[in-house]
Amino acid sequence: MSSEYPDTELHIGGAWTAGSDRQTLPVLNPATGETIGRCAVATESDLDRALEAAARGFAAWRKVAPFERAKVMRKAADLLRERADAIARIMTLEQGKPLVEARLETLAAADIIDWFAEEGKRAYGRVIPARADGVLQIAVKEPVGPVACFTPWNFPINQAVRKVSAALCTGCSVILKGPEDTPASCAAMIRAFLDAGVPGDVLSLVYGDPAAISGYLIPHPVIRKISFTGSTAVGKELAALAGRHMKRATMELGGHAPAIVFEDADVEKAVTVLGGTKFRNAGQVCVAPTRFLVHDSVFDRFVDGFTAVAKAVKVGDGLDPSTKMGPLIHSRRLDAMESLVADATAQGATLKTGGKRIGNRGNFFEPTVFTEVPLTARIMNEEPFGPIAAIQRFSSEEEVLEEANRLPYGLAAYAYTRSTERATRVAQGVESGMISINHHGLALPEVPFGGVKDSGYGSEGGSEALEAYLVTKFVTQANF
Ligand code: NAD
Repeated sequence: MSSEYPDTELHIGGAWTAGSDRQTLPVLNPATGETIGRCAVATESDLDRALEAAARGFAAWRKVAPFERAKVMRKAADLLRERADAIARIMTLEQGKPLVEARLETLAAADIIDWFAEEGKRAYGRVIPARADGVLQIAVKEPVGPVACFTPWNFPINQAVRKVSAALCTGCSVILKGPEDTPASCAAMIRAFLDAGVPGDVLSLVYGDPAAISGYLIPHPVIRKISFTGSTAVGKELAALAGRHMKRATMELGGHAPAIVFEDADVEKAVTVLGGTKFRNAGQVCVAPTRFLVHDSVFDRFVDGFTAVAKAVKVGDGLDPSTKMGPLIHSRRLDAMESLVADATAQGATLKTGGKRIGNRGNFFEPTVFTEVPLTARIMNEEPFGPIAAIQRFSSEEEVLEEANRLPYGLAAYAYTRSTERATRVAQGVESGMISINHHGLALPEVPFGGVKDSGYGSEGGSEALEAYLVTKFVTQANF
C-alpha cells in the first residue's frame, strides 16, 4: 500500500462509508503493477440508500435558485484549483498519465464546472403566442430528475465532471458510478463539490461491479436519466436497458477517428499536432486519431515525420517529469495491443516502429506505427484505445471520404488542408459528431462534444449538454 494514495469510500446520503458489507477492490499503480490502495464496493442496500438520497436531494436541489447553485459550483471549481497538485499526484499514481497532464485535467475540470455553473442560469423556456386573448402559453424547462452516471478511467475526473456539472447546474441530483481502476481522483472531485456546499443527498458516489450497479440503477423508478461513457458494446446494452424502462440517455462511446492529410496540407504541422494527439494518455482517448489517411504525394514525408515523433516519445512512469507517455491502464490493454499488432503483421502491414511491450513491470507499450495496413486488419476496424497508429495512402478526395465514413463509428475526425473550399466540403462530407480542421480544437466546455452512428448520441459540452438534463413542460393558462 502507498502512504501517498488514499483508499476510496462510497459517498451516500451525506456520509462517506465503507459500504454495508465492507468489501473492497484493489487499486493498482499501472506503472508498477503494485497494489496502492483499496476501493469500497456498493451492495444493493447501499444502492437503495443512494436512490433514497437522490430522490430527497432532487426534491430540495431543484428548488434552489440557479444563481445559488452556481455560487456553490464555482466554489467547488476554486477548491479543485487549490487542490490540483495533490489530486494530480493521486491521479498519476492510479491512472499512469504524466503528472503535468493530470494537473491540467484537474484544472480543466474547474473550468468545466465554472462554465456549467454560468450556463445553468440560462436554461430559458419560451412564450408561445396564444390564439385566444387572455391565454398565456409557456414552455418551461425543468430538471429531468435524479440521474445515474457511469464514467471510465481514462480521464477519471473529466469524464465524470461534465456529467455531474450538467446535472447539478440544471437542478438534478446524481448517483455517479465512478471508475474502479481510478477511484481516488474521481472521489476527490466529488469531495470538492461537497466541501463547497452541494447537499449530501444531491451527490452520491458508488463503485463496485459495473454491470450489477447499472443493472440495478437504470430500471429503478427513481432514476430518470442515464449518462454513460465507455465502449460501444457496453453502451448498446445500457441504451437498450434504458429504452426498455423509458429512461433518457446520453451515450458517449467509442470512436475510430480518421485523420486526413491532403496534398496541400501543412504537413509538418499535421505531423506535430496529430503525433501529440495520438500518443496523449497512451492513446486511451475516445477522440484519438487512429486511421491516418495521407495523400500519395505527401505520404513519405508524413510517415517519416510521424514515425520520428513516435520514436521520440519518452515512455515511463508519469511521476517522472521527463515522461511524455505513461503506461496503459491495465494488463488487459497490453494483451489487446499485442493481439492487434500480431493481426496487422500477419496480414502484411509494415511496422515502422514500436509493436512491443516495454519491460515486464508496469503496462508500458511502445508508440507503434503501421503503414500499408489492409482494410481487413482488425486495427482498421476496431477501436485500439492505445498507442497504435495506422497510416494509409489515398489519391482522391472522393476515395478518402468514402474510407473516412466506412466504419460504423462517428465520433471525431481530423483534416489538414490549405484549401478553404476543400475544408468546407470535408466538414460537410465526414460522418462524425466533431471535426477539427488544421488544429486540435475539441473538448472545450463551451463546445458540443459527442458522436453519431455507433459512437452514441447526445452532447457532453456546450448548451446542448444542458438540454439532456432538462425536460420541457408546456403550461397553458387562461387568465379569466
Ligand atoms: P470495459 O468495457 O470493461 O470498461 C470500460 C468502462 O465501462 C469502465 O469504466 C467500466 O467500469 C464500464 N462498464 C463496463 N461494463 C459496464 C456495465 N455493464 N455497466 C456500467 N458500466 C460498465 O473495458 P476496459 O477494458 O476497461 O476498456 C476498454 C474499452 O473501453 C476500450 O477499448 C474503449 O473502447 C472503451 N472505453 C472508452 C472510453 C471513452 O472515453 N469512450 C473510456 C474508457 C474505455
